[in-house]
Amino acid sequence: MTNGGQRPDASGFHIENEMDLLFGRAHPNPTREGCPPAELLTRLAHRELPIGDPAYDHIGKCSPCYQELRAIQQADAARLASAARRKRLTYAAAAVLVLAITGSWFVVRQTGGLGGRTDASIAQVEQDVLLDLRPFAVTRGPEPAKEPDALVLPRGRLRATILLEVGSEPGDYEIQIRDANQQPRASATGRAMIVDFVTTLKTSLDTSTLPPGSYHLAVRRQGESWRLVPAQLR
Ligand SMILES: [Zn+2]
Repeated sequence: MTNGGQRPDASGFHIENEMDLLFGRAHPNPTREGCPPAELLTRLAHRELPIGDPAYDHIGKCSPCYQELRAIQQADAARLASAARRKRLTYAAAAVLVLAITGSWFVVRQTGGLGGRTDASIAQVEQDVLLDLRPFAVTRGPEPAKEPDALVLPRGRLRATILLEVGSEPGDYEIQIRDANQQPRASATGRAMIVDFVTTLKTSLDTSTLPPGSYHLAVRRQGESWRLVPAQLR
């Protein structure tokens, strides 16, 4: 085995472990006595020869060859790592894309169109809302109830399930959403029935054209007086 012309580039060699520290420095071989050709060194670096191959012996006795061999291995490792990193980045980018697609799909579903949360798009979506009037100390007349917090109503076409206050009779009801001036801005009718011991009324309410703000939900059984509950439209 002789010095085979163009040598592998050892400049990328760096010390990673005690073997590198020892064999990379212990045997300077300035005349490159007995060094294998570059092609064989590359095969050794890639572990393409059986572990007992005598060519390995030289590597343990020649620090320049050891450095060349390790530089090839370290470059391979760096390439693999960056390929793995690229692969991870590709997966990450794909995941972001999936999120972006499902996210925009969700937004489209939410608003019923691509035009944002306009009144027109709100109107296309039916939303189920549960309005529980039972906790309210319902007043009769225009005085708002003091407690608890106002009902929260979304804007849109609402499929409302209204749980009426305890003691409410089943029958035909009128429902209004009144503004701060007690003017009805939306209205509906529905028949209340007792479901699981609760007087329950299902109806449709369209709040899509109303601006957000403070309102009252007004409810009365036909022929009786209105009962008012504060409501926030959002
Ligand atoms: Zn050598």
